[in-house]
Amino acid sequence: MSATVDKALVIGGGFSGMSAAIQLRKAGVNVDLVEIDSGWRSYGAGITIGGPALRAFRTIGVLDQMMKLGALTDGVDLFTAQGHTIAQLPTPRSAGNDVPGTGGIMRPVLAKILADATRASGTQVRLGCTFTGISHTSDHVAVTFSDGSRGTYDLVIGADGLNSATRKALFPDAPTPRYTGQGVWRAVAPRDGVERAGMAYGKRTKTGYNPVSASEMYLFVTEDRPTNTRTPDQELLPRLRALLEEFTFPVIRKIADHLGADSLICYRPLESLLMPRPWSRGRVVLIGDAIHATTPHLAAGAGIGIEDAIVLAEEVRSATQVDAALQAFERRRWERCRMVVENSARLGEIEAQAGDQQEHGRIMRESMMALSAPI
Ligand SMILES: Cc1cc2nc3c(=O)[nH]c(=O)nc-3n(C[C@H](O)[C@H](O)[C@H](O)COP(=O)(O)OP(=O)(O)OC[C@H]3O[C@@H](n4cnc5c(N)ncnc54)[C@H](O)[C@@H]3O)c2cc1C
Repeated sequence: MSATVDKALVIGGGFSGMSAAIQLRKAGVNVDLVEIDSGWRSYGAGITIGGPALRAFRTIGVLDQMMKLGALTDGVDLFTAQGHTIAQLPTPRSAGNDVPGTGGIMRPVLAKILADATRASGTQVRLGCTFTGISHTSDHVAVTFSDGSRGTYDLVIGADGLNSATRKALFPDAPTPRYTGQGVWRAVAPRDGVERAGMAYGKRTKTGYNPVSASEMYLFVTEDRPTNTRTPDQELLPRLRALLEEFTFPVIRKIADHLGADSLICYRPLESLLMPRPWSRGRVVLIGDAIHATTPHLAAGAGIGIEDAIVLAEEVRSATQVDAALQAFERRRWERCRMVVENSARLGEIEAQAGDQQEHGRIMRESMMALSAPI
């Protein structure tokens, strides 16, 4: 049980914030969580969950649900745009020999698994609510909320994502997210016998697919787009189809043929942010995308946010002083998170410039091995 933190506030109910609430409850901390979205929604796209994230889910206690409602597989097939095999990327079984090395799940399904676990942990969840003011002294943090209430906490965790209001309040001079020159398309399609994830490299476009359940998989396409422009809804389908044209092998052709007016298609610009240390001020600490928002080239963004939550709770449980816990948290997390953000950005550059495929492969392999190391 934590000797230093009796009551904590988590701002933001995404994957990182929910995981922090669950793990802090295990350390005996009373936790309030405020989430600005009154519907606690997650958008309808698939997400790849690598072995290290599966290991984190095992620690949190939701791996069984993930295995039941998502899809777990081993290895990723790499192809040319014509479907010739380049290699198979190994996916180390980081979560244990009994758990495949990688997986996929629909975001709303994963969000519900974690939301149920958050509520079951005894966390007091308030939806449609955010903070309006934070002031800290050396021994507590006073917070005012948008519903007119107030609270006093031993620790506040800002897990409010890429455009974090907590980061802006705490570190007004912090860097802001940077558009990387790429965007990602995603769509859902029938799994149709596909056994494991695959990726194919076109001239300047990459596509891939990953099972997300027993019956479905998701498609992703990385597009080189120098300026951050929006795609009108009516153009989503024709533009995605056009991007897929250079990929001529059966799995991708079948997905392209399946796409229609009812398909769940989304496009997201890719932004990146690595906040320099420190990641905390007084008794307020930031975790997840609020400090290290990565492009998805290593499919590790959600995983490192969830790991932040685990490490933070471990340090809060064992430390005798809050500042010592926050410093230890940062020391354990910095190098790993820096590596993910910077290596992912480099992979994106190589893809956008049709650069060195060997360097791309080397960075992928080295990063995945580094991520499989214990946290
Ligand atoms: C296109 C794309 C594809 C990706 N694919 C993958 C992938 O395959 N695998 C992977 O591991 N990662 C992937 N990622 C990264 C991953 O989605 C993020 O790293 C992860 O969702 C971050 O979780 P988070 O909880 O830190 O932040 P968020 O998911 O942004 O959650 C923040 C939460 O805080 C809430 N909030 C915001 N402001 C406030 C406020 N002021 N007060 C209260 N609440 C607030 C939000 O509503 C939200 O619920 C991808 C990212 C992108 C952009």
